[in-house]
Amino acid sequence: MKFTVLTIFPEMFAPLQESILKRAQNTGRIKIELVNFRDFAPSKHKNVDDIPYGGGEGMVLKPEPIFRAVRSLAPVEGKRRIILLSPQGKLFRQDIASQLTCYDELVLICGHYEGFDERIRSLVDEEISIGDYVLTGGELAAMVVIDAVARLIPGVLGKTESFIYDSHNEGLLEYPQYTRPAEFEGMKVPPILLSGHHANIDLWRRKESLRRTFLRRPDLFERLTFKAEDYQLLEELVEEYPEMALYRKKWEHLKAKPKRRRSRGEIDGC
Ligand code: SAM
Repeated sequence: MKFTVLTIFPEMFAPLQESILKRAQNTGRIKIELVNFRDFAPSKHKNVDDIPYGGGEGMVLKPEPIFRAVRSLAPVEGKRRIILLSPQGKLFRQDIASQLTCYDELVLICGHYEGFDERIRSLVDEEISIGDYVLTGGELAAMVVIDAVARLIPGVLGKTESFIYDSHNEGLLEYPQYTRPAEFEGMKVPPILLSGHHANIDLWRRKESLRRTFLRRPDLFERLTFKAEDYQLLEELVEEYPEMALYRKKWEHLKAKPKRRRSRGEIDGC
């Protein structure tokens, strides 16, 4: 998969040359191309911004350099999606990251300064915001999108299933994780994790994911689609948290359903 970033600050993308994304580029799983759209400014001084019509604070990115940079992109074999990073865009979430893996190339346009000329919006397929706050530029947002999408591409993480149980992959937060030592400063690892009984460990983890999501992110819990195997776990949790009964109608129907365990190779996305 290729990521093409249109930016006037290509040096800001140095973090993508480290760790997992560096290895993914070295092994050819992903390609990242940085295009400085200042190179496409038609004026002698290579200006990319100008004062806003109608007055007001700050400078606005001009349309010509970005239009010219997009039109200069080499044709892609497969599907390309042009994305504008903007605080006014659709909120970036794990399901959107997953959908974006369906493309062969993502073109990410980074705004800067006060924003960009409205006509630039006509070039793009979608606008993405990484959160309800305003950054100085789209570069950090583009890196967030690249990182979140790239790690879902087969072969980028060591094992495909590394992300299956991650927070947000199924709308759930991840269960608590532990490593050695089994006891640290009086704090013990839950005995079930030392039992070697994998089916019970899976159930414990699922229950802790449900618990965590309910306690920390009730907004996510409300949107969850439960599985047959969750029925018993939810009935146990509701005894600890009677207020969870508010959601019982979301899992009651699972009582009679046969259990279907998700296979370890099964992943969302493309
Ligand atoms: N005046 C603009 C507005 O109110 O919508 C904000 C401009 S912001 C200072 C400059 C650039 O940073 C934006 O054009 C966009 O590319 C990027 N940016 C800022 N916040 C962002 C966010 N939450 N998500 C994605 N990109 C963002």
